[in-house]
This record gives sequence, C-alpha cells and structure tokens, in this order.
Amino acid sequence: MLRNQDVFVVGAGVNGLSTAIRALEAGFTVTIFAAVFPAIDPCSIQAASFWAGANHISFGETGSLMEELEKETLEVYLELVKKDPEVPVMTRPHFRFLESADHPSLSRREHMANFYSDFRVLDASELPEGMAVGETNLTVCVDVPRYLPYLLERFFALGGYAFRTKTPLASLSSLLTNQRPQLEQISADGSSDPTRVPVFDPAAIINCTGLGARLLEDVLDTAVHPIRGETLIIRAPWVNPSITFHFANGDVSYLIPRQSGDVVVGGTFQVGDTHAENRPETVQGIKERIVRAYPEILPEDKRAARDVRDLDVVAECVGLRPARTGSVRLESGVLDVDGKKVLVVHNYGHGGGGYQSSWGSARRAVELLRTELASTA
Ligand SMILES: Cc1cc2nc3c(=O)[nH]c(=O)nc-3n(C[C@H](O)[C@H](O)[C@H](O)COP(=O)(O)OP(=O)(O)OC[C@H]3O[C@@H](n4cnc5c(N)ncnc54)[C@H](O)[C@@H]3O)c2cc1C
Repeated sequence: MLRNQDVFVVGAGVNGLSTAIRALEAGFTVTIFAAVFPAIDPCSIQAASFWAGANHISFGETGSLMEELEKETLEVYLELVKKDPEVPVMTRPHFRFLESADHPSLSRREHMANFYSDFRVLDASELPEGMAVGETNLTVCVDVPRYLPYLLERFFALGGYAFRTKTPLASLSSLLTNQRPQLEQISADGSSDPTRVPVFDPAAIINCTGLGARLLEDVLDTAVHPIRGETLIIRAPWVNPSITFHFANGDVSYLIPRQSGDVVVGGTFQVGDTHAENRPETVQGIKERIVRAYPEILPEDKRAARDVRDLDVVAECVGLRPARTGSVRLESGVLDVDGKKVLVVHNYGHGGGGYQSSWGSARRAVELLRTELASTA
C-alpha cells in the first residue's frame, strides 16, 4: 500500500472530471482544483467543455494514441448507455455527406471503415439532394449540459473533494505553496464544509487544464493552441441522426442532437483565433448552410420556404478547442516545489475530440499515476 494516496487534479472539464472519477475508483483520495467548473458555472470561453457537440467521430490517425483513446472511450460510452437508460448519452446513426466526389476528406474513408464496425458507404439512392457521396456509422451523442453535472455527481458520490480557485493558478506548483489563490469549496449540495481543509502535500498532481497548459509557468506548453468553434443551439426535438456535410468549397456543417431535444449546429474550425464573441456573418452562414443542406431542421410546416428566420435558435456559442501540435499529452514528469519533487501526470491537449477520448485518457492517466508512484514507493 502506498503511504500517501492524496491526488490533486487541476481542471474540471470533461477530462478533469473523468480522470478524477477513475482515480477515486482506483482508491486514491482526490481533490479537484479549477478556476471554472463547467458542470455548474455559467458558460464562459475559459473552458472548452461547455461548448462541445458532442458526438464521436474518430479524428485519430490509424495506429495513433488518439485512435486508441477514442476506441476505448466509445466502448465505455456504449457500456454506459446499455447499463443506464438515464445516462445523458445516446446512440445515433451518423451520416457524412460530401458535396463533391473527390473531396479531400474522402481520405478518411479507410480509417473510418476500420474504426467503426458498422461503417457503410451509402447508395446513390440514399443521398440527399446535391450530395455526391455518403457514409454512415453508429455514433454516440453526449448531452453536454446534462453530462457534466452527471460526472460531477459521480465524483462526489465516490467521495471526491472540489475547490474553485478564485483566480487561475499561476503554476501547478503554486498550489503547494502560500502563493496559491483563495479557494472556495464546492460540494454536491452547494454547501461548504469548513472542516475540510486540503493538506497541501499530495502524492501527485494530474494536469487536466486544456488550453491553460500554455500559460502555467511550470508547463508553458507552446504546442497547445486554440481552434475556435462557433455553433448554434437549435430547438428541434424531431431531429434524430447526427450529420456532417462537407461542401465542395471547404465549408463544413454539422448537427448533433441532444437528449434534451436541442440540436448543436456548427460550425467553424479557426486555428489560433480567440475572438470570444459570435460574428454575425458567421452565425448567418451557419444558418444558411444548414437550412439549405438539411431543411428537416425546420418545423415540418415551414420546410418548403427554407427560411433561416424559422429556425428556433436557443443560443449562439463560441468555444476554443484545446489543440496540441503532435498529439494529446499523456505523460508523467516531476515538479520541483521549493526543492521538493512532486509527481505530475499530464492529460491535456485533446483538441476537437476531448469527449470522444475522455475515458481512454482518464484510464491511461491513472495508470501512469499508479506505475510512477509504485516505482518510487
Ligand atoms: C465548438 C466545439 C465543438 C466540439 N465538439 C466536440 C465533439 O463533438 N466531440 C468531442 O469529443 N469533443 C468536441 N469538442 C472538444 C471538447 O470540447 C474538448 O476537447 C474538451 O472539452 C476538453 O476538455 P478538457 O477537460 O481537457 O479542457 P477544458 O474543458 O477546457 O477544461 C479545462 C479546465 O482547466 C481549468 N484550468 C485551466 N487553467 C487553469 C489554471 N491556471 N488554474 C486553475 N484552473 C485552470 C479550467 O478552469 C477548466 O476547469 C468541441 C469543442 C468545441 C469548442
């Protein structure tokens, strides 16, 4: 048995929460520290997890770490759905339509066919008007505004502790010194337990800070960069499948239904852009493309006119995907905190696939934690 089982997780997005759950299940005492808790805080650009669709479309290259993480995560989601009908995740068919028969994204076909066991190329008779090629496979659609509270609830039910940092940490090490910002305890019922004061001497810190890893003074990962995404939330409970349209000019439209009856419609992939507000011309473009490609997003009696003003837009959103040149960072290291060595496990940089790789990443991070701690025990 290891002497010190205390582990700090920095970050409360989908990766922080999933990793914290796996660490608790492995027998560690886990405390989360984060500036923003997307499960309960008002939406902000400070965390990507507020903004995801989120469906499962493998982005990893064949044979890559990302592909492995995505495979494992898909299995966990499918198991969750099978075991618990209340879980805010649903299986749906995903359709990918390409407007031109030589679209560059056709290069993904072999990968997709190998990844998804039910992958199928569509017949010409199954294609919507104007589309040249189509493919389908089963995906999962995560209802993000319900799923994050579900994860946080699981975390508390397993005995985890959580603190909001009043300002972002300057470094991971600062958490272990008197340089740390003021902390506010978070609990399952919203109450604070003044008797629970963390002992700032953990066996390890797990770093799940997403884009924050660029700025933390003892991480300063310049490979981390934002990929901005604008989306709309549209009320359309009748929409069943998840669909991606690739247009010949390079534009992409996608829609991801949620259990709640809302549908996430995107979107943009703007590398390095951090503009926090929606741009009116982008919003208009998203509306026009989806109504043209998929008039079924409109109420049945309004479809013929294909008028964007008939869309029931609930929200306009902007999020920053925490991308990392190369790949996600899943590795261990050592922090020097005033001469004391502390184990750190990094788990960040999931880009546009943080939900679809979360459970695989969480298991790997905890595996690293156990291996490294065992080797120094
Ligand atoms: C428009 C859009 C669509 C997307 N669609 C999908 C999809 O369909 N499928 C999919 O799998 N993924 C999708 N994603 C990607 C997904 O949202 C991200 O990969 C994922 O949310 C990253 O989660 P995370 O926990 O690593 O980081 P985040 O959610 O960004 O969380 C980071 C956490 O670290 C904390 N933190 C950071 N720095 C500090 C600091 N210095 N001090 C204290 N706390 C700190 C933050 O407060 C936060 O709690 C999408 C993203 C966007 C923007």
